[in-house]
Amino acid sequence: MMAIDPVCKMEVDETTVKLKTAYKGETYYFCAPGCKKAFEENPEEYIGE
Ligand SMILES: [Zn+2]
Repeated sequence: MMAIDPVCKMEVDETTVKLKTAYKGETYYFCAPGCKKAFEENPEEYIGE
């Protein structure tokens, strides 16, 4: 299963990715620590419409 990194829009493999975070009941996956950090600092910016 491929997921989309909400920060940089890169595809990440859910089965191997180590960087993930839960937010409002959804799990988000990241390609790099910087992307995870950016998301956690301002999640609404990345999941908002
Ligand atoms: Zn990324």
